[in-house]
Amino acid sequence: MIYLDANATTPPDPAAVEAMLPFLGARFGNPSAAHAPGRQARRALEQARANVAALLCAEPDEIVFTSGGTESINAIHLGARAEWPDRPVLVTGAAEHAAGLECASRWRLQGGEVRTVAVDRQGVLQVESLREALEPGRTALVSLLWANNETGTIAPMRELVEIAHAAGAAVHADAVQATGKMALDVRAVPVDYLSLSGHKMHAPQGIGALFIRRRAAFQPLLLGGGQENDRRSGTENLPGAVALGRAAELALAALPTAAAEMARLRDRLETGLLASIPDAVVHGLGAPRLPNTSSIAFPGSDAAGLLILLDQKELCCSGGSACHSAALHPSHVLDAMGFDAAHAACTLRFSLSRRTTEAEVDAAVTLILSAVNQLRTLQAGPSVLTA
Ligand code: PLP
Repeated sequence: MIYLDANATTPPDPAAVEAMLPFLGARFGNPSAAHAPGRQARRALEQARANVAALLCAEPDEIVFTSGGTESINAIHLGARAEWPDRPVLVTGAAEHAAGLECASRWRLQGGEVRTVAVDRQGVLQVESLREALEPGRTALVSLLWANNETGTIAPMRELVEIAHAAGAAVHADAVQATGKMALDVRAVPVDYLSLSGHKMHAPQGIGALFIRRRAAFQPLLLGGGQENDRRSGTENLPGAVALGRAAELALAALPTAAAEMARLRDRLETGLLASIPDAVVHGLGAPRLPNTSSIAFPGSDAAGLLILLDQKELCCSGGSACHSAALHPSHVLDAMGFDAAHAACTLRFSLSRRTTEAEVDAAVTLILSAVNQLRTLQAGPSVLTA
């Protein structure tokens, strides 16, 4: 199998799995308990927190463990609406992940107003569009993807944050795809909140984190026993947190070597495909992009058909952003970038991880070219017969 779907989920790093295993057995203590096993669990949890903080250049007390990216994103949106009822405006991107989009719908249902920041043809969030959307005094939250999950396009976050703060709005960055693939520094780029997810960075599924800047307003989503310093009640997923901490440590140690190697392999993939399919379109090619993500349209080759052929050949990739199902629907991201539905229907997303090898990329190029040829021959079939 060749796995090029790391933006959907990554294989857990064996070292992260090894780190979590004792906490599924002998070290089962509850971090809130005062006795020895509890204290031992607390120490492991705090070490994991410090490791996650280090990856973001944050302080450990600014990190809250959650169940994943979706929960972190929901906590910020729902919390901001409750915290600032007199500031009804939410500003968000045109190409957000479903979690952000659905939270924006909820914001509207709760009587709020949602304004959208446009992206350009490369998928880059437009600074001027943010300026126009902001309404000082009425805007509670600006919530934007740091890096897009479909195209890998990176937002000019430092500039966006500066503009949002000047208008008095708090800023949330969905860094679920960015974390571990590019350097993130919340002191240099002072977002107020940041969401990340373990399973996108070689930790297991079901664990994530939320960065909450010291003194930033926050209303918890989950109420109860007051864990995580009253910011996220519920007994922590200690094995998951420990694995995430180890994964964060590994990601930090691997950057920037891993990023450079992923970019080299991503470029090799794109060059190999474009050499034989010159009409293929690489989305966001001229923009700052994550090193691992390649969204490519193969005009005339239906993505649903390509996915079936590639799956048969044990090459895993995805069409559009469907990380939750095999369902193909027109990509709102490509739509926001100005591409039509027919173009979007011919688009596949390949996403590498630091475990992807050159041999896998070369084999993938061969498989993709053969699938595109097969589909083009099939689609040409009827016209050949009727000619
Ligand atoms: N945000 C982005 C950009 C994502 O790509 C994803 C998952 O695909 C999420 C949020 C949701 O994260 P999780 O699967 O941890 O809930």
